[in-house]
Amino acid sequence: MALNIQAIRGMNDILPDETNLWQKVEKILRETLAQFSYSEIRMPIVEKTNLFSRAIGEVTDVVEKEMYTFEDRSGDSLSLRPEGTAGCVRACLEHNLTYNQEQRLWYMGPMFRHERPQKGRYRQFHQLGVECFGLQGPDIDAEIIILTATLWKKLGIDQHLQLQINTLGQANERAAYKESLVKFLEANFDKLDEDCKRRTHTNPLRVLDTKNEDIQKLLEQAPKLFDYLGEETKAHFNNVLSILDHMGIKYEINQKLVRGLDYYNLTVFEWVSDALGAQATVCGGGRYDGLLELLGGNQGYGLGFGLGLERLILLLTTLGKLEADNNVDVYVVSSGNNIEAYSAKIACQLRDLVPNLKVRNHCGGGNFKRQFKKADKLQARFAIILGEQELQEGLVGLKDLRDANSVQQSCSIQEAALTIKSLLSK
Ligand code: ATP
Ligand code: MG
Repeated sequence: MALNIQAIRGMNDILPDETNLWQKVEKILRETLAQFSYSEIRMPIVEKTNLFSRAIGEVTDVVEKEMYTFEDRSGDSLSLRPEGTAGCVRACLEHNLTYNQEQRLWYMGPMFRHERPQKGRYRQFHQLGVECFGLQGPDIDAEIIILTATLWKKLGIDQHLQLQINTLGQANERAAYKESLVKFLEANFDKLDEDCKRRTHTNPLRVLDTKNEDIQKLLEQAPKLFDYLGEETKAHFNNVLSILDHMGIKYEINQKLVRGLDYYNLTVFEWVSDALGAQATVCGGGRYDGLLELLGGNQGYGLGFGLGLERLILLLTTLGKLEADNNVDVYVVSSGNNIEAYSAKIACQLRDLVPNLKVRNHCGGGNFKRQFKKADKLQARFAIILGEQELQEGLVGLKDLRDANSVQQSCSIQEAALTIKSLLSK
């Protein structure tokens, strides 16, 4: 019986046509991050499980239900990273990167969460993560939002993403608020669903972002976090908003925005699109000053965001803002005795002469007609044609495949390179 091994549910192959799109998007992300003077950091994909349970919080969806956790051969409990912030903070503390210095960092790569797979939600997905350390804000809070807004502009989707923003205050302010929220929830306990009942005593703030509409209605009468915030917290928030106003970045203050992970304080934000259906949040982040200390560092400052690349690419393709590039500019066709070495050499010379040109050397023999068919199918713009005569004279044939009137021209590879360059720049 033939083996029928398939990929794991919710973990996708990204096929050649798609990687072309991914690379285009990643290039824009990398270039923008460099413009803002952020540096790349690369962390392992696997960490000790207690890093995540400590950083993200025991009673969060991610740690309770979504982690890929296993014992390795030494009996250590390890987990595939469900997000990047915990590992990034761990790496910075381990290598002393946050001691008396600031950092502006980014990473890109796969994350793993055991969720129910659906459009925009997978078990292996990819994030761009940005993290800043050692800066108290509010200017840096605004900067990371400006950075995301710049990305949307460059990708041509700034009209399709809305910024939602909130402040969660400081831990002590939240503690006072939590107490009165729990009282309210307990008084209305019979109106809550199972999830919210459970969260009332484990993570009451999470009740605020329930999707249950009846409970949402009930929550309109609940105490508001904003009334428990001190002057400093409010000033921080207003300063962030004022910078956004000056930059012309529109936002909606959403008091129900609490974010899924435990570690946030002060500014939190999400970028949401109405073109994505249920999985609408493309990017989310905020401040998490307490996390450094929680993971064994000194009291410090940290903030950042995670951007879901699958959702971003889905949005770009849905809106028709992203098309695959052709991956062949020049197809080298050849036929004749001992022509293989000549065609390999000509193809390499052309790649040296025009470095950003995509040159495919035909391999596998066959007559010219068959080779031209291949060039057509791959939508190559030019053909370089090599036969025994070209081999003897050290010349090449060049033909513009998009121009029906073009006749094959015989010239040196240097001349061919110049012609190709000038035709491409038109
Ligand atoms: P959601 O509310 O959609 O579950 P989240 O709050 O769990 O998102 P974060 O932990 O903030 O998400 O991760 C940041 C971003 O990563 C999200 O805004 C989203 O774009 C993306 N993301 C999160 N989980 C998934 C997933 N399972 N599949 C694809 N993308 C995801
Ligand atoms: Mg989630």
